[in-house]
Amino acid sequence: MGDSHKENFIWKDGNCQLCRTGQFTVEEREQHEAESEHKRKLTLYNFMTKDLQFVRPNPNALSILFDRYVRAQAPVVGLNYLLELIFPWSTSPYWLCGLCYDVGHGLDSADLHLYSSCHRRNFIAEVYPERYEEMLAKQCEYVSTKHSNVEHETALEILKEKKGIGPPPEVFNVILYEKRVALEKLHLQDEELKLEFLAEEVTDNHQIFNCQVCGENIMSYTDEEQHQKVWSAHCATSKHQKCQMIQASLNESNISKRYGYPDGFIAHEKLVWALEEEVFYGPSCGIEFLINFGDEYFCKLCNCLVLREESTNHFSCESHIVNYL
Ligand SMILES: [Zn+2]
Ligand SMILES: [Zn+2]
Ligand SMILES: [Zn+2]
Ligand SMILES: [Zn+2]
Repeated sequence: MGDSHKENFIWKDGNCQLCRTGQFTVEEREQHEAESEHKRKLTLYNFMTKDLQFVRPNPNALSILFDRYVRAQAPVVGLNYLLELIFPWSTSPYWLCGLCYDVGHGLDSADLHLYSSCHRRNFIAEVYPERYEEMLAKQCEYVSTKHSNVEHETALEILKEKKGIGPPPEVFNVILYEKRVALEKLHLQDEELKLEFLAEEVTDNHQIFNCQVCGENIMSYTDEEQHQKVWSAHCATSKHQKCQMIQASLNESNISKRYGYPDGFIAHEKLVWALEEEVFYGPSCGIEFLINFGDEYFCKLCNCLVLREESTNHFSCESHIVNYL
């Protein structure tokens, strides 16, 4: 009985509800069910429907994710489809997305997931099917060589109408599993993306950290608990969130590595400084952080668009050099 119910949920009108793709013939379905991405989503679906079946969400628990996005005024949608899992052996929450059947650990991976066009698309398709159709039509009009972000635009329109990011995710205190078992069930490796590195120890109590996402330097404490508080406040700033959003869209772009300088770029190789209109220019550096989108360049270090004719100046100007150092 349970299994037939599951079958019905997963396959509806020839569509896999987990991957949101259409497979119509029996062979196609079997092939799809053997794909690793489908299997991963199925394990997560089973975790949500079986393992969490008897765990009630904690109505008194404050959602850490929600708190952060409210503070950062971040344009996230579909937050209430996330389940926030608190395990006794972890200081940061795990999250599961009930729209995309995806999972992650920590706030940074949640940022990247919520800003991904895949999550936004699934949210719009689920809650605003008519808008979704409109969006698809609009997407067809875009020229393929131009970078389009129609999911982002639609999400912003929805947020404007709804006046806010909506209800918070439900928080589950999961005490059932030790770490190894839980990670296995969630298909996760025991590793955390490090978005920070220690830049300098200032005093016995203070140290400076550099954020690898937005490039900002943060004065923090040597005490781990106090440091975590400072770090999490930093990650809730709108500048950091904006950079995460850019990062999420870069992750989805087809970027390949090239060597040598882009067109029109003149490298300053000498170690000399020149003052021009109150800006110091020095040697060119950090060219590896330049991303070329056709006619536009993007500097990943400073998180800004750079016009082609400005590129020589940008990669040798003092603020870029400071970010590089
Ligand atoms: Zn599937
Ligand atoms: Zn999602
Ligand atoms: Zn940052
Ligand atoms: Zn730069």
